[in-house]
Amino acid sequence: MITVLKFGGTSVGSPEALKRVASIIAGTEGDRIVVASAMSGVTNFLVSLVDNPSQDIEEAKEKFVNKHLSTASQLFEGEAMDAFMSEFNARMKVFEKAVLSDREDPFYRDGVLSQGERFSTLLLTHVLKGIGIDAKALTSEDAGIVAEGHPLNGSANLVKSEAGMTMNVRPLLSMGILPVITGYYGVNSDGKPLTFGRGGSDYAAAVVANAVNADMLEIWTDVDGFMSADPRIIPGAIKIDEMNFGEAAELAYFGAKVLHPRTIEPVRVKHIPLKVRNSFKPEEPGTLIHHLRKPRNDLLRSVAAKTDLSIITISSAEMAYRPAMVSKILDRIAAADTIIYSISTSLSTFAFLVSSNDVKNTLKQLNGIEGYDIERIDVKNNVALICAVGDNLLGKRGVSGDVFSAVKEANANVEMISEGASEVSLNFVVPMGQVIDVVKILHKKYIGERR
Ligand code: ASP
Ligand code: MG
Repeated sequence: MITVLKFGGTSVGSPEALKRVASIIAGTEGDRIVVASAMSGVTNFLVSLVDNPSQDIEEAKEKFVNKHLSTASQLFEGEAMDAFMSEFNARMKVFEKAVLSDREDPFYRDGVLSQGERFSTLLLTHVLKGIGIDAKALTSEDAGIVAEGHPLNGSANLVKSEAGMTMNVRPLLSMGILPVITGYYGVNSDGKPLTFGRGGSDYAAAVVANAVNADMLEIWTDVDGFMSADPRIIPGAIKIDEMNFGEAAELAYFGAKVLHPRTIEPVRVKHIPLKVRNSFKPEEPGTLIHHLRKPRNDLLRSVAAKTDLSIITISSAEMAYRPAMVSKILDRIAAADTIIYSISTSLSTFAFLVSSNDVKNTLKQLNGIEGYDIERIDVKNNVALICAVGDNLLGKRGVSGDVFSAVKEANANVEMISEGASEVSLNFVVPMGQVIDVVKILHKKYIGERR
């Protein structure tokens, strides 16, 4: 039995948190592999370092060192401290090299941003040693996690990562050693760190679980699990005990901030169940996400919202009869590296939903389309996508009618609808100003609240 346990930034964010996490690991039976994020605040600090080239590097380095050494000094002494320091110093050399390397290198930022995880995992490893667990800190380089893709937006190569980890990590397990691996990044074909996007340690842990064919992936965070809605909007939101992979994937992708949106895929393909749990309340069972689940009769299980989106609408007479034009548009969207959250077409319009941050780049690409008479391109800003997730939503008669009558009660205009693309979710777009009302009404009518 292999369990992969992933701990987020707050779960490793202080000496007390590190000790709590160590006892969670100690209490887990069977073979264990740990993946950790950087201590909370550290990646943001590194982002500000790469964003302000004029910043005094020595000063920044000192802050970084102090952050980790002040934590270490509260955890280790004597020989334990010496052992920690020798690995710490080696990793600091790598830190310096990354910070001082060529800023023009497209992977410069990845190299610097990946530094935080290298130190949180080191701290955790030595805390584990202190309670008698034979742990070993591994970077993603050591472990053999292989990434590919654009800077700051890598994807794991699952096949190569499995090969790498079979060579580098599995043998440790058979020797009774507990590997503690850096989250957030893998190594690209040039041997350089490539990060998986902010919050990417969840995904890295899912990649590790996939690579070793784990029996369970536990994501330990600072909330009780997946909720029926964002508790900041619905204070009485209910914790969801159990979900299937499809529901969790849609929710993570469309706005529930519990998991990095890409966490589900690497475990789903190998049928590895996943639990989301609260490291500050280990007695709570969390949310279990797995394949088979007893069907339930509730209409909705959760309502998530993704804000700061825009609709781009392209108009051209009888576009529907010119599939080559549609294909050209999609090519251009891909060239801009823009993620499409929804698409809707009619005879002469093609509308799609994107993150507002991507609008400028996307328009630049679209304006370069030649040879077709595009009449207009309109942008509607400040919209949000509501993702209503429920068991086999489409299998039930009248669900969308019910949902939309609730939306009407909130006095909201629906700008765009995507129904039928997924069996478990009904997605639609409303103006940003109406999101909270819509979520509240849907939650109240179809989910109810904790009393
Ligand atoms: N430390 C990285 C971040 O803050 C990755 C993670 O936390 O998952 O984005
Ligand atoms: Mg983090």
